[in-house]
Amino acid sequence: MKKYLLPEGGKFYKANLHSHSTVSDGAWTPEEIKERYMSRGYSVVAYTDHHVMIPHNELTDENFVALNGVELGVNNIVDGYPAYKARKNCDICMIALTPDNLNQPCWNKKDNLPSCCDAAGKAIVERFGDALHYDDSRPSFVMKYDPEIISSMMQEARECGFFVTHNHPVWSSEEYTDYIGYDGMHAMEICNYGCVVEGHDEHNAKIYLSQLRAGKRIFCTANDDNHNKPTRKCDSFGAFTMIKAEKLEYTAITDALLRGDFYASEGPIIEKLWYEDGKVYVECSPAQAITITKMTKNVAAVFGEDSPITGASFDVAEDEGFFFITVTDEKGNKAYTNAYFLDDILR
Ligand SMILES: [Zn+2]
Repeated sequence: MKKYLLPEGGKFYKANLHSHSTVSDGAWTPEEIKERYMSRGYSVVAYTDHHVMIPHNELTDENFVALNGVELGVNNIVDGYPAYKARKNCDICMIALTPDNLNQPCWNKKDNLPSCCDAAGKAIVERFGDALHYDDSRPSFVMKYDPEIISSMMQEARECGFFVTHNHPVWSSEEYTDYIGYDGMHAMEICNYGCVVEGHDEHNAKIYLSQLRAGKRIFCTANDDNHNKPTRKCDSFGAFTMIKAEKLEYTAITDALLRGDFYASEGPIIEKLWYEDGKVYVECSPAQAITITKMTKNVAAVFGEDSPITGASFDVAEDEGFFFITVTDEKGNKAYTNAYFLDDILR
């Protein structure tokens, strides 16, 4: 029986699910982000400024959805922290599932501030504090760099109606022993282009695989994390998430995110992905290699040795746990499907 892993119906919408505007430390205004991303074929941008969730519903129209979000982060710097040690961060994007969900997730009630608000954050709050809303009934979070507290923050954001992603673990200097303890994310960034532009090897298929092998059923996104600082190479338009949804409306997009109806890419396009009688099939833009990664070591690859290939099929056995597909183009750019679990497919 044929089962579509990316839905057969609907339409793909190009999205950047992690961006910074002049609300925090980005150089482009929210309107400029909309205009410039739309001119490059994007239909969706999540505005995830640091510390504060400022809604941009006024930017949504029939050709564009502005998702409301925030990036909250915590680091392990304490007094006397030696400069030679790598500072660890944990940064999390939280995207509101509905446009009317205007309450800031995870707040520090005592100080009436977003959780883990540093001096830079306080300056932003001072500018935008009047626009912030909190839900009095939710618990207070005073953040610390601790996997248990980070997990509780992810869980809190989920309970408050947000799509939660764990961002750029390489930039954050997080090790296996750190991120393996995080529970509650919907997705992790398999590529973060802003970090790549800074010089980090922010291509995280191995980390994604580790999380999956540890039993987490999470998705992967690829994002710009654009700040558009004039002193640096442009960090927009390098990594994107292609969302397949019934229509271009706020909740149609977030429903597709929750279902995992998307793939992550640095360039290649995945057109179709389906499972049929023990095989997975992929159709894509011209590629130099297509590989399948699994829970088991039974991986496989197809190469376009003489000319590019535009599809492949791979055997997947019932007891192989999960798999994801990677498409690599001639420039070395990759697209990654989400992981699919055989027990879900065969249910
Ligand atoms: Zn960011």
